[in-house]
Amino acid sequence: MSIKPARTRFAPSPTGHLHLGGARTALYAYLLAKKTGGQFILRIEDTDTKRTVPGAEQEIMDGLRWLGLEYDEGPDLGGQHGPYRQTERREIYQRHAKILVERGHAYPCFCTPDQLEKVRQEQMKRKENPHYDGTCRNLAPDETAKRIADGEPHTIRFKIPHDGVTVAHDHLRGDIVTENKQLNDQVILKTDGLPTYHLAAMVDDHEMQITHVMRGSEWLGTFPLHVNIVRAFGWDEPTWIHLSVFLKPSGKGKMSKREAAAAMKDGYSIFIKDMQELGFTPEGVMNWCALMGWGVAEDDVMTVGQMIDRFSIDSLTPSPAAINFQKLDHFNATHIRLFTTEDLAARIKPYFTREGLLVKDDVLLKIIPLIRERLTTLDDCISFGAFFFKEDVTPNSEDLIAKGLDARQSADIARRVYQILEAQPDISHERCEPLLRAYVEESGLNVNQVFGILRVAITGQKVSPPLFESMEIIGRDVCLRRVQNAIGILEKL
Ligand code: GLU
Repeated sequence: MSIKPARTRFAPSPTGHLHLGGARTALYAYLLAKKTGGQFILRIEDTDTKRTVPGAEQEIMDGLRWLGLEYDEGPDLGGQHGPYRQTERREIYQRHAKILVERGHAYPCFCTPDQLEKVRQEQMKRKENPHYDGTCRNLAPDETAKRIADGEPHTIRFKIPHDGVTVAHDHLRGDIVTENKQLNDQVILKTDGLPTYHLAAMVDDHEMQITHVMRGSEWLGTFPLHVNIVRAFGWDEPTWIHLSVFLKPSGKGKMSKREAAAAMKDGYSIFIKDMQELGFTPEGVMNWCALMGWGVAEDDVMTVGQMIDRFSIDSLTPSPAAINFQKLDHFNATHIRLFTTEDLAARIKPYFTREGLLVKDDVLLKIIPLIRERLTTLDDCISFGAFFFKEDVTPNSEDLIAKGLDARQSADIARRVYQILEAQPDISHERCEPLLRAYVEESGLNVNQVFGILRVAITGQKVSPPLFESMEIIGRDVCLRRVQNAIGILEKL
């Protein structure tokens, strides 16, 4: 069976950071488009101008590109169905609102915010759900015409049929049946002439020939309104897919701002830009994200390319997914192990540079095999590798004292180790490790005591990549200087 190319879109509002939910919606939309040989479109839904945040649009575009979700059409790329920013499509929405009014599916509404508020208060008093009371629904056509001619500010509301039911079909949830009397005549064009989401998104999805609408399940509430609007125009409906919600890590309740702040304290975030800074990789983030809502095995390791091969909208699931940051660590670490040495070197270099360290590329390539297995996030390279690029390290004096020994005894050991190393023309690990092991043997000390002092002297820390391999990379002169420095510290204690 030949598959029809899908046109999908990611349609964020530029009101804040690109977050996990958005990234997952974008990913699934991207996968479907690529799987079917179609197109993935970025549309910026900026009609709620009061909520627009400067820089948010750029962050969305940068975030998508960082994640590897290159869009085929979008505000900065153009395309056949542009413009791709809704504030630049004003005239298109006004034309469509007019069509609905002419066909009797919508009407001008002159109610002021104060009047609407009063109605709302009264409905609340009567314990009714707030809804538009229909004041302007049946105004006589000449009255409407006159008030418009007089320049009275007005919105346009969609006229929901009073009787019957609306059956809206979601690909994951089946038919959703709503009694029309539960629905509200919502504003589709505001007094400033800009549309609300309900009109703008329906018009754009049609005009941009979107075949599959994937969006968050927060839109399920207005979904019946949306299908009514599409049907009022007489358009074919796209396949509607409302994705699952994310729950907080405990699984109890939706992810909130407070949870997000708590996650940040533990070195995690739900915002893509933070994830990048925290050292997560696009591969790790996408793999993690993909599995929250897609019914493949929970531990499948996949790149976006491999996901394209396996993707199907039939395997998406509507069940809520609890965010599990430990899994993010797992996928991130797993992908880090799959990068080539050169690729990983290029990815971690900026984290060293960010710390003000001068990175020598040949050294960087050499340390990758030593630290790779220890990295969960890319910025872990600092704890495991900064000492390679520092002029000198500053060990904590306490750490230089070996277990069961005092400062004087530890200094004696350091001095003996210095002599052994100094006598060598080079400090390759093949040469040094046996010599120092022999010294451990004959001295009656244990390996941890001797190597512990040396490790702290050389790396400035108690945990490090393999010591002798590290020393070889650091080089004889610097190693000797660092051991000398450690002796000096011990002697002062
Ligand atoms: N602009 C809407 C939002 O950010 C998009 C919903 C949709 O994808 O249709 O929530």
